[in-house]
Amino acid sequence: MRLPGTLALLALALASCGRRAATRAAPEPAFDAGRARAEVGWLADPARTGRGVGTPGAAQAADWIAARFREAGLAPAWDEGYLQRFEAPFRATLGERNAFAVGSSHGELERDFLPFDFSDDGAVEAEVVFAGHGITAPALGHDDYGGLDVKGKIVLVAQDFPRESDAASPFRDPRHYRFAEWRYKATNAREHGAAALIGVRDVWAEGHGGADDLPPWRGQVSSRAGIVAARVTAAALARAGVDVRALAAPGEADGKPHSRPLGVRARLEVRVLHERATTANVVAILPGRDPAVAGECVVVGAHHDHLGLGGDSSLAPERLGTVHPGADDNASGVAALLAVARAFAAEGPPRRTLLFAAFGAEELGILGSSELAQHPPPRCPTERMQLMVNLDMVGRPAAGKVYVDGADTARGLRDLVKALAERPPRLPLKLAFGEGDGYGPSDHTSFYARDVPVLFLFTGPHPDYHRPSDTPDKIDGAGLAAVARLAYRAAREAAERDGRLEVVRTASPPPRERGERGYGTYLGAIPDFAERSAPGVLLTGVRAGSPAERAGIAAGDVLLRVGPTKLLGLQDLAFALRSHRPGDEVEVEWERAGARRTAKVRLEERR
Ligand SMILES: [Zn+2]
Ligand SMILES: [Zn+2]
Repeated sequence: MRLPGTLALLALALASCGRRAATRAAPEPAFDAGRARAEVGWLADPARTGRGVGTPGAAQAADWIAARFREAGLAPAWDEGYLQRFEAPFRATLGERNAFAVGSSHGELERDFLPFDFSDDGAVEAEVVFAGHGITAPALGHDDYGGLDVKGKIVLVAQDFPRESDAASPFRDPRHYRFAEWRYKATNAREHGAAALIGVRDVWAEGHGGADDLPPWRGQVSSRAGIVAARVTAAALARAGVDVRALAAPGEADGKPHSRPLGVRARLEVRVLHERATTANVVAILPGRDPAVAGECVVVGAHHDHLGLGGDSSLAPERLGTVHPGADDNASGVAALLAVARAFAAEGPPRRTLLFAAFGAEELGILGSSELAQHPPPRCPTERMQLMVNLDMVGRPAAGKVYVDGADTARGLRDLVKALAERPPRLPLKLAFGEGDGYGPSDHTSFYARDVPVLFLFTGPHPDYHRPSDTPDKIDGAGLAAVARLAYRAAREAAERDGRLEVVRTASPPPRERGERGYGTYLGAIPDFAERSAPGVLLTGVRAGSPAERAGIAAGDVLLRVGPTKLLGLQDLAFALRSHRPGDEVEVEWERAGARRTAKVRLEERR
């Protein structure tokens, strides 16, 4: 929907004249809607190849943003320039030693077998045990591993879940979709002590037409699952006398597990190379004019990367290889960031220092903002940041609606934002306050985790989110400019005000965390999304009032185990939380300064 016309704007402005907002009402710089749209158009042009990390398009975007900062007269944040380079994992390729043999039959890569991109590297030769669909779901009365010894063995599991075409199957409930994910099956096999997992399509399932093909190699970088794992075809197994239809038949008939050793040996060797690429944050600085507070700073940020040609985060997996232009996500935020930066550059410095940051590798797990929050420029140390304003998907306000998250991260911030929106000229926006705390699925999390108050502005989800159809023609330039103006007002207020904003650790209700589908349990630990070579999950924070906080777990701790599940990485934390029910008491183990600690924790319900 479009914003009101000039007359309506005028009427709004007049209507709000009687209200004196909290801050001074000096004339504001212009926010150019046409320019913002043009900039979204450039960033989301197919020539930028979706700005995927490691692609030329992402590097072009970073250089282009640096040029816009320079053009506006803003100095680079570092002596060396605007770019803060860092490495991010971006692609997985198949190494040379991938092999599979079952019985005396040797398989051919990509015809008979294909490693999962989350597989560990290694070689396993062992007996094969059929473990049904590889599901352990006590709450649903189903355990494919019940009474089965798979220690050191290779488990063979089928895709999806039992009796897929049965409408009464509990596995068709979206809360239980995860049991159909390969990643889940691999982790569950690992937790049962298996040495390797081979997965086969459920060629017997209705609607699959007996299809037995392997999907093309996706090459998505994901953390390793802690087990060697590959897909194999039913045909390759059949050559060794393993008939998967016959194996599955009893389970298809009664829905119960019919797992058993197969009396055949197999050998699986996997080598997956995780490639890394250099990418960059683009950061400009506007030093404050008041020596008394110029050591404090305000950050305005937006990520410049997107999904490239698709990948794991794409919601159109069938269109892998197609440019995901990311006009709203997040060319819109970058255009708004540039508009804010220009406004400050034109007006001259406020009392405090301003930092304008276009982050790289947000889509890979807020890596760029994590890098900046950990290694800020000397003139803007993290502990002296007054406020971080994050712009992510701000180009499509429906009926002028803008979501504001983080409004409770500083004392008085919520009221302040309301007042800023109403300050003349009143902004044509309807504020929708969302999560009060500062954790969410975007870059502000990296700052709030380090005790910086944050505001997260976005104009809401839409059907084009993370799809090739997120194109520039759908961007509302005037709406985008209005959000930019709100971000500008918030940043200016924080940069000019007398006292500093005081961070509040809010005890908000358990939110849904990034990447976690389903209705798992809630611990309240906030992982650092930056990569980690050692096992365990490094925490940047714990939510106030959460089970983790009550157990004495704190920022900087490394979570090692939740209940029986060892945590190699983030995915294992999700696995562990989803393996329990709210109210379950589990033992949690973590490490602090080299010392191990444990505590009993009662897991809560996720909203
Ligand atoms: Zn985004
Ligand atoms: Zn995104």
